[in-house]
Amino acid sequence: MNSNKKVACPLDCYDACQGEVVDGNIKGSKNHFTTNGKLCINFAQLLKEDNLKNAKFNGEDISLTESLNILSEKLKQTDSSKTLYYQGSGNLGVMQNAPKNFFSQYGSVLTKGSLCDGGGGVGIEQGREAVINPPIQNLLDADIILVWGRNFSVTSSHLYNLVKDKTFVTIDPIKTDIAKKSEIHMQINPKTDYELALLLTRFAHMQDLEDEEFLEKYTEGSDWFFDISKNRPVVSYEATTGVPLSLVNDFFDLIENKSVAIMVGLGVQKYFEGAQIMRTIDSFATFMGYHNKNAGGLWYLSDSAYGYEKQFKSNSKNKKVSVAQVDFADYDLVFIQGANPLVSAPNTKTVIDGLKNTFVVCFQTTNNDTCEYADLIIPASTFLEKKDIRLAYGHEFKAKSEIINESSLETINEYELASYLIKEFDLEPLKDENEVLDYYEKTIPLRENFENFVFIEDIEVEPLYKNFTSDSFYLITAKSKKSLNSQFTIDNYVHLNSSHNFNNEDKVLISSKYGSANFIVKVNDDIKENCAFFFSGNKYVNYLTTNNEDEESFSAMYQEVLLKIELS
Ligand code: SF4
Repeated sequence: MNSNKKVACPLDCYDACQGEVVDGNIKGSKNHFTTNGKLCINFAQLLKEDNLKNAKFNGEDISLTESLNILSEKLKQTDSSKTLYYQGSGNLGVMQNAPKNFFSQYGSVLTKGSLCDGGGGVGIEQGREAVINPPIQNLLDADIILVWGRNFSVTSSHLYNLVKDKTFVTIDPIKTDIAKKSEIHMQINPKTDYELALLLTRFAHMQDLEDEEFLEKYTEGSDWFFDISKNRPVVSYEATTGVPLSLVNDFFDLIENKSVAIMVGLGVQKYFEGAQIMRTIDSFATFMGYHNKNAGGLWYLSDSAYGYEKQFKSNSKNKKVSVAQVDFADYDLVFIQGANPLVSAPNTKTVIDGLKNTFVVCFQTTNNDTCEYADLIIPASTFLEKKDIRLAYGHEFKAKSEIINESSLETINEYELASYLIKEFDLEPLKDENEVLDYYEKTIPLRENFENFVFIEDIEVEPLYKNFTSDSFYLITAKSKKSLNSQFTIDNYVHLNSSHNFNNEDKVLISSKYGSANFIVKVNDDIKENCAFFFSGNKYVNYLTTNNEDEESFSAMYQEVLLKIELS
């Protein structure tokens, strides 16, 4: 490995770390503010990955040149409107977007919405137009960190390290690592986060804690919002959210005259009304004036490309389908890039049925679960073999990748693949690769000052607890320390509280109205009694989830489901 060259971690993670080669090994860069000299266990696992070395057609090894010929011939023979371009979050970097430019020009159907943060993002946009986080300095300067539905120390270990000595409060149905380190843990019932946000607003008003000057100057509709919060007796919130009012009192005692940073995770918005739920939480933060302070604020999964001009512009006229609802069988050819829908997309049975009934092209660095259904596999160059820039959705710092290892002649990077196809189809060439990289490296996006927030004025959320019976469970998923999405060490257990009559290693059948699957039980008292918990990447959990889209963002809503569990 060439010393002192830089490399950006390509994993789909808030921290977006910068590494560099030191004495032949990759170490975390000391001068990258959030990386601060350390990389994590997932990065170490990434370096050990068995990457694809050859293209494959119908399971047989072929040369890269043959695979590109097959792809281009197949695309020429297929009506472009019967092809789908499906992009995931693997091998992250700005160059990941190059193939989309070809498929857009060619006329493929594209996807819209998200399997991750879509509903929450729309909720924030509706209130304040853009999904951008405050500068990380605001987090460092906050006194109290309220972690809301996010296992902060696991999913953002570098950000956590910067603030680990502060006082934490956690809102989560699971006793997560960060909940155990928190002064207060509100072990909330799933899908009641908007109710808790309203209750907190009510308490804040009772104690005159709202930021009146800010509300007057920069916001619309705080009166409507407060009116919604007082529509119900205070004690009724305690019953539905499962959060004792005494804890809410403790919370307000703790934050009195303190600056507060709210770190919101994906868990709160994995529901049909995810946008409304997120907007209600953001409205509470606004009511308190947190968006107006030099210390604190609200962090979510920020739009990492905010403020940059797209360097690979796509044709806006392409038809788009919801990524949650996509049925692969509707297409004659599906091109899957950096994604593993077999595990990560909702409703695995529909995904498998769809993949069996189309021509599947997988453009990946590894032989993932979805490759099992691929007709053609094209090996993508790894992050060590290409130039790239990684923008971050957890903070404002970017990371750079230089070529560390010479690329094998049998793999191809995103830019090269897109350029090859563009030439084959005589379409408009991409901007020069170095010019694109230079643009992203040098541009510092403008972040305008906060000017206007529009409060949510009407909340219509159908709570899951309405249909919850004594033998129901809420489905909860979260990331683990040892895996990232569907990669690395995967835990396929269902985790249940010991208050049920299940024992370790029991075999159970879990069913929902969307499907069923067999699991093995791990008893775990960190899980709330009414929840069935699964780590992300569990190969069976999405047999239970719906592929309907959410209310407003065309996105998946993995937790909009109740489960039944029986011994099998
Ligand atoms: S913390 Fe995230 S970005 Fe940093 S090395 Fe680990 S996986 Fe990569």
